[in-house]
Amino acid sequence: MKIWLDNGLVDKEQAKVSVFDHGLLYGDGIFEGIRVYGGKIFELDAHLKRLWESARVIRLDIPMTWDQMKEALYQTVRANNVIDGYIRQIVTRGIGDLGLNPFICQRPCVIIIAGNVQLYEEELYEKGLKVVSVPTCRNHPMALPPQVKSLNYLNNIMAKIEAIDAHAGEAIMYNNEGYVAEASGDNVFIVKNGVLYTPPVQAGSLDGITRQVVLRLAAKAGLPVIEKNLTRFDLYVADEFFLTGSAAEVIGVVQIDGRTVGQGTPGPITRQLRKLFFEYARS
Ligand code: PMP
Repeated sequence: MKIWLDNGLVDKEQAKVSVFDHGLLYGDGIFEGIRVYGGKIFELDAHLKRLWESARVIRLDIPMTWDQMKEALYQTVRANNVIDGYIRQIVTRGIGDLGLNPFICQRPCVIIIAGNVQLYEEELYEKGLKVVSVPTCRNHPMALPPQVKSLNYLNNIMAKIEAIDAHAGEAIMYNNEGYVAEASGDNVFIVKNGVLYTPPVQAGSLDGITRQVVLRLAAKAGLPVIEKNLTRFDLYVADEFFLTGSAAEVIGVVQIDGRTVGQGTPGPITRQLRKLFFEYARS
């Protein structure tokens, strides 16, 4: 396996970072999780835009141009013969000392890993996922804007632990006002009376690329979509419920906090959007 590290490809065994990298010491860095379908990098410009915007917010200068980054991503994909897979792209603050000051770090470190991913078993896409509401909140926007895809995932990890403890596949996270934010690694959608609802990004979610694609596909298919704050009540009485994310793609939810969603199987609109998503991804 070949890994992109800083300026070029190295063997997996040589792909090591310093213990003084602030990405490790403080979670000071950003990342992207990107799909590859048919050898092509899915929604590459949208991912690079999000990466560059995350960098801008945390005052990190990515030491590459947009075109150089694209070339590095494609070189990594080709070197590992990835046709249908997943890329993890990371930019850390780089090597510093034990203090917090990021500006003494000489150069951000760029890491690209291209491989395979299977977040959920195939049969779970047919049967649907069980989720639970968890006590750990999503980041308060005045602490760290949730749109920044930073290496600080500790509250999402806490949420994931809470879901695992409850024997659930995913955690539904709320914001500090009690509105639905997102899942620990996915965005949330529900269907009620034929209308799709998803919380606005301002409710405290990542501006998911899969979410963006699903919103576009729904609009094209003539499905009404409303972005508005959702409560736990809305999730409990939804006709359908699904999650979106690069790794999960589109996956139906059939139970939340012990309550069955709809008929207890992924509903027709969930299935339709999953199908439209695949047609689009493979086109
Ligand atoms: N929310 C969080 C917290 C995530 O980590 C992710 C990515 N796994 C998503 C939502 C989905 O975003 P995307 O569709 O861009 O993968």
